[in-house]
Amino acid sequence: MKYLKKSLDGKVPYYSKMITDGIILNANESAFETPKEIIDILKEKLDTIDLRRYPDTDNTIIREALAKNYNIDVTNITCGVGSDQLLDCIFRSLIEDEYIIACNPTFSMYKEYASYTNGKFIDIDFLPGFIYDTKTIIKTIKEKNPKLVIICSPNNPTGSYMEREDLETIIKTTNGVVLLDEAYSEFYKSNYDLAIKYSNVIVLKTFSKAYALAGIRLGYAISSSDLIDTINICKPPYNLSTLSQLIASIAIENKDLYKENIEKIVKLKDELYDSLKALNLNVNKSYSNFVFVKLNDRIFFHLLENKIYIRRLKYNDEFYYRINTGTKEENEILIEKIKEAL
Ligand code: PMP
Repeated sequence: MKYLKKSLDGKVPYYSKMITDGIILNANESAFETPKEIIDILKEKLDTIDLRRYPDTDNTIIREALAKNYNIDVTNITCGVGSDQLLDCIFRSLIEDEYIIACNPTFSMYKEYASYTNGKFIDIDFLPGFIYDTKTIIKTIKEKNPKLVIICSPNNPTGSYMEREDLETIIKTTNGVVLLDEAYSEFYKSNYDLAIKYSNVIVLKTFSKAYALAGIRLGYAISSSDLIDTINICKPPYNLSTLSQLIASIAIENKDLYKENIEKIVKLKDELYDSLKALNLNVNKSYSNFVFVKLNDRIFFHLLENKIYIRRLKYNDEFYYRINTGTKEENEILIEKIKEAL
C-alpha cells in the first residue's frame, strides 16, 4: 500500500468472510430471523417510497420513532450506518491526540478508530471473572484526564455488565465524555437515560442484534443535543438509505414483536452456558446473547470442519472464543461436536 499515510502503517483492511452455509455463531447476530410481520409491513409500505430521491439526511422517520419509544427529544438522537459509523464520527469529532480509556478485552473497533485520530488508548484489565475494575478505571481517569471513557455494557466479548452506580461514579469523575456502548442491552438492562441525565454521556445502540436487522446497517446514539451536534459534524450527508430508515422505523414501532424472541435468546444463552459449564469448560457469566469461553485449538478446528463458526480471540496470549447462541437445535449440535473433540 504505497500511498497509505504513515500513521496507518502496518494496518490491513477489515476482513470478514461471508458465510451462508452451516451454523453461524460468530457475529452475535440474532438466533431468529426478522419477524415475518415486520417484513409484511415493509412489503405494504414499499410502494410509498421514491427511490429516485436522496434519502432524508436528517433521518426524520427513524429519529421520530426512536424519540417516541424512549420518550426523549429528536435532538437527542443521531443515526449511523451501523453504530460502527457513529463510533467513527465520535472519534473524529472528539479525539485529537487525547487519552481514551477502555477495558480489555472489548470491542476491537474502538482501538481502530482511535488510531485513525491519533488517540492514545489506555487498556484497563478486568478483575478475575471479567468483572469491571471500576476502582482502577476511576484512578486512571484522575491520573490521565482522558477525553473519552468507553464502557461497553454488556461487554463484547466477555458479556460483563457494569452496574448503574459504577457508571454514575465514572460519569461524575471524568472531565471528558463517557461513551456507553449498549449494543447488547436489550438482552439484559439499559441505562440509556444516563445520556439524558448527564450532559457528557453518549449511549450507543444498534438494530443489528436484538432487532435481527444486521443487514440494514443502522445504529443510533442518544446524548445531549450539544454532543449530538458534535457527532453530526462528522456524519456524511444522506448516510442512511431510505430503505434502512423505513425498516428500522417499522421495527421500533412494532418492538413488541421481538419480546418473545429476546426472552428465548436469553434463555438459550443461559442453557448454552450451563452445557459448557457441565463439560468443565472455563466459561464466563454473560448478560448478552453470547458466551465467552476458553477452548483448545482441537475443539475450534473440529467445529470448523463441521461448519460451525465461532469467533476466536487472543487475550493475554491465550485463545478464547465468543459464541453467540443459536437456536435450540444449533446449540445441541454445537455441544455434541464440542464433546467429540474434548
Ligand atoms: N458495538 C459493539 C459492542 C459491537 O459488538 C458491535 C458489533 N459487533 C458494534 C458496536 C457495531 O455494531 P453495528 O455497526 O452493527 O451497529
